[in-house]
Amino acid sequence: MRQIIVTSCLFCDIAAGKRKADVVFESDDVLAFRDISPQAPHHVLVIPRKHIATLNDLQEDDAEIMGKLLLAAKQVAGAAGFAEKGYRTVINCNRDAGQTVFHIHLHVLGGRYLGWPPG
Ligand code: AMP
Ligand code: ZN
Repeated sequence: MRQIIVTSCLFCDIAAGKRKADVVFESDDVLAFRDISPQAPHHVLVIPRKHIATLNDLQEDDAEIMGKLLLAAKQVAGAAGFAEKGYRTVINCNRDAGQTVFHIHLHVLGGRYLGWPPG
C-alpha cells in the first residue's frame, strides 16, 4: 500500500508566497519578514527558503545559508536604523527555548533596550 504523507510548514508557505507576510528583505536563499506578534518595536524573522526544522538539524552543507541569515539580519538592522544603537539575534531551539515554528528562523529584535539574561 502506498502511503502519502502530507506535511505543511507555515514558513515554507510564506517563502513560497502561499501565505502573506510583511516582507522586509529577500534574496534567492533567504527571506525576512515582520513577526506577527512583535516583542520589540522592530521584530523581524529571517528564514532560509530551504526547510530546516531546528538548529539540531543543521548539516555541514548548511553553513553558507546560516551565514546568509546573519548577513540578512545585519542588513535588516541597518535598514531599520538600529544597527549602531544595538539589537539582538536569537534562534530558539526546541521546547526549553520556546520554539513554536519548526522551520529555523533568526529573530532580529531592536528599537528598545533588551534586558539580559533573557527570560
Ligand atoms: P519561535 O518561538 O522562536 O518558534 O518563534 C516563532 C515566531 O513566529 C513567533 O515570534 C511568532 O510570533 C511568529 N509567527 C508565527 N506565525 C507567524 C506568521 N504567520 N507571520 C509572522 N510571524 C509569525
Ligand atoms: Zn518549512
